[in-house]
Amino acid sequence: MKLATDFCKFAKELYPKEKVVLHRPIFEGRELEYVTTCINSNFVSSVGQMVVDFECAVSDFTGATYAIACVNGTTALHAGLHCLGVDSESHVLTQALSFVATANAIAHCSAEPIFIDVDLETMGMSSVALENWLCENTYTNDGVTFYEVTGKPIRACVPMHTFGLPARIEKILEICDAYYIPIIEDAAESLGSFVTNKHTGTFGSFGTFSFNGNKIITTGGGGMIITESEMLARKVKHLTTTAKVPHSFEFFHDAIGFNYRMPNLNAALGLAQIERLSDILDYKKKLHEQYVDFFSSRGIEIAKSQVGDTSNHWLNAIILRNKSERDKFLHVTNSAEVMTRPVWALLSTLPMYKHCPNDGLKNSKWLADRVVNIPSSVSTLR
Ligand SMILES: *Cc1c(COP(=O)(O)O)cnc(C)c1O
Repeated sequence: MKLATDFCKFAKELYPKEKVVLHRPIFEGRELEYVTTCINSNFVSSVGQMVVDFECAVSDFTGATYAIACVNGTTALHAGLHCLGVDSESHVLTQALSFVATANAIAHCSAEPIFIDVDLETMGMSSVALENWLCENTYTNDGVTFYEVTGKPIRACVPMHTFGLPARIEKILEICDAYYIPIIEDAAESLGSFVTNKHTGTFGSFGTFSFNGNKIITTGGGGMIITESEMLARKVKHLTTTAKVPHSFEFFHDAIGFNYRMPNLNAALGLAQIERLSDILDYKKKLHEQYVDFFSSRGIEIAKSQVGDTSNHWLNAIILRNKSERDKFLHVTNSAEVMTRPVWALLSTLPMYKHCPNDGLKNSKWLADRVVNIPSSVSTLR
């Protein structure tokens, strides 16, 4: 397969001095310095100035009013859903084309996900599919929308900005507003992605990020939840810090809280990482442009953000013509030690979610057979 062998040569030229992996972190800033400062301060756990500073840095970068750090992106989603009252008597709308954490966070609330199809272009939740499904399967009563089959309320909608490509979030928001359904944007993959000039994650009631080692910046493990609502911010902060009532020496907790607070040690790493974020974004934009040239001259489609939007180009994705071409491409590249991956198995096919309602997932299935992620790391910022 000439496309795959040409691609391997090209990828090895892009990463001449290293193994060609899908996405690795880059530590060329003040990481060691900040982590050392943190250790020397003795504040390595879930209390410390660096957590506060990292929260401020994320607020500044995204334009979000409130940012609350968590131990990972999954807990950020879980805490947000919990705050919106998602429980065992609820449904939550989301997309089947996502990482498993999206549905797991819903299941951690004992709620049942309902899988809505994605757009072919953005690979994020399809506003058309969402509106059709809501129109055909729900009724609204007193400001709450119910799923007809179970009679249970739909308490939230979790669209995801796939690979950093912004979903059509404004349209999704408009539809969800009409049905009184709050949105949590799973922006785990989209730090640095904007819809016109507004950062992804700032449209819904909450937005959540992940700082896992494979994301655009990392804290080792980590997450963040952002919101514009002071009430929700207070609630999330309280819930993620064991629901302790503030007092200088007494221990009193007024709810079953979670120990979800990001440790200071991880925030130290995050502070050094976010200082390099704009350089990382510049590098990734150039890398994406090189991939666009390579693939468009060979008649292969590469995923791009919509006109007016900005992707962070976290993971580049190509769309091959069919499943067998995809399988050949995966085989040839991985055999040559150029790491490429198919998109996740649709969540609607996993044993724990296959009984959940879905809308047919036409585009999701089409993409699942064709999408391949290609190496997208920053090689060096030096
Ligand atoms: C990475 C990721 C998460 C959360 O990941 P953690 O590993 O828990 O930080 C959630 N959703 C999506 C789509 C992701 O890619």
